Amino acid sequence: MTDSLVSSAYTQALEVIGQVEPRIADATRQELADQRSSLKLIASENYASPAVLLTMGTWFSDKYAEGTVGHRFYAGCQNVDTVESLAAEHARELFGAPYAYVQPHSGIDANLVAFWSILANRVESPYLEKMQAKNVNELTEADWETLRHEFGNQRLLGMSLDAGGHLTHGFRPNISGKMFHQQQYGTDPETGLLDYDVVAAKAREFKPLVLVAGYSAYPRRVDFARMREIADEVGAVLMVDMAHFAGLVAGKVFTGDEDPVPHAHITTTTTHKSLRGPRGGMVLAQEEFAADVDRGCPMVLGGPLSHVMAAKAVAFAEARQSSFKAYAQQVADNAKSLAEGFLTRDATLVTGGTDNHIVLLDVSSFGLTGRQAESALLDAGVVTNRNSVPADPNGAWYTSGIRLGTPALTTRGFGHDEFDKVAELIVDVLSNTEAGTTKAGGPSKASYVLGDGVAERTKAASAEMLDKHPLYPGLVLG
Ligand code: PLP
Repeated sequence: MTDSLVSSAYTQALEVIGQVEPRIADATRQELADQRSSLKLIASENYASPAVLLTMGTWFSDKYAEGTVGHRFYAGCQNVDTVESLAAEHARELFGAPYAYVQPHSGIDANLVAFWSILANRVESPYLEKMQAKNVNELTEADWETLRHEFGNQRLLGMSLDAGGHLTHGFRPNISGKMFHQQQYGTDPETGLLDYDVVAAKAREFKPLVLVAGYSAYPRRVDFARMREIADEVGAVLMVDMAHFAGLVAGKVFTGDEDPVPHAHITTTTTHKSLRGPRGGMVLAQEEFAADVDRGCPMVLGGPLSHVMAAKAVAFAEARQSSFKAYAQQVADNAKSLAEGFLTRDATLVTGGTDNHIVLLDVSSFGLTGRQAESALLDAGVVTNRNSVPADPNGAWYTSGIRLGTPALTTRGFGHDEFDKVAELIVDVLSNTEAGTTKAGGPSKASYVLGDGVAERTKAASAEMLDKHPLYPGLVLG
């Protein structure tokens, strides 16, 4: 797509929007300016292509299409069928998956679909067949009571939040921690690494129906073949949530035992992180789960977002190009450069490094909490997010860590030298930030004092790199 086409598409779109609500047009312009001028290191964010973004702004948004391809509860879904079929076909090809369900609106929705599919597929109950939509009226109130009991007493084993797992992997405040009896596995307290023997021992003792693998903040690769062995030994379903690293799977950086798709019974993902698509979710499954996953709507989803499914198809088509492989490899190489940049400057990293797209910096050696570090960095134009480290003494709100990711700046074209410089800038900001005090004069976990001139020199150094690697080069809003 040529620059002038994209520029005129957005200029005209914003003019149309501005005629109705100018403040939204202004905020949209401002968001572009802000994204262009900051160092975006949020590990779960990226920059989707103009083609992906433009695909979301169409009349497909107006169409209801509950059901599945060729089997809708609304008339006139022939074009949505085309879109959904294409997105699913690209997804199957991209990931080598027998089955793909592209309707989930987000990663959390994808996980809910997966949970209910596993329950529907594996819980042994005489009522299950009747529970499906066409037979529901045959169940009595007493049958439903039994079903609720059977469904509500299943076990899930997932990675704990402070070891890098996600809320949906059995964390108590999330519905996954309430609908299942849950237990969590962590990482080795010395190395910060997953210890598969410990996971296996927990699984043997707990005998979960669902073993969840995958993470939001673990800076290492996972051996999914080993996780499947563990699941098989105890008769569990292996569900892998690859929301974070789907781009590294699609780009063939993670292959063999590190590729979850052939090993997991069900793989879930978001489409907007390292995969660089629109905001959304997806479920990939082995054939035996396909029919259950297909019931995502009406089981836990409403009408699919057809405009987003269209954008998923475009993003997956992009990810099937060879340039995406080079991008994914660069994401992983850049994470190594960032980690080395920290280690040569004596900073502490959880697990001592990275071999995916995440670097988890322990900021306690700077005398700061994650909250203070996050805020100080933001003042200096560096956008990160605070994150727990294993057994975090500051809990999940203040934390002791900062999570950094390379997908977004790699999309802008940052390479080894820039990521080394990013490490230098972050160390400079944190070394020149002091923890503040509370109103009563005690130590504060939130307030901080940034040294004179640090924000200005960081922004100037960042601007040099950002100018060399513009976001949406050639996109000029008139
Ligand atoms: N799963 C994992 C591993 C994630 O990291 C996230 C998001 O951070 C999600 C699921 C949820 O995705 P969403 O925000 O699209 O619901």
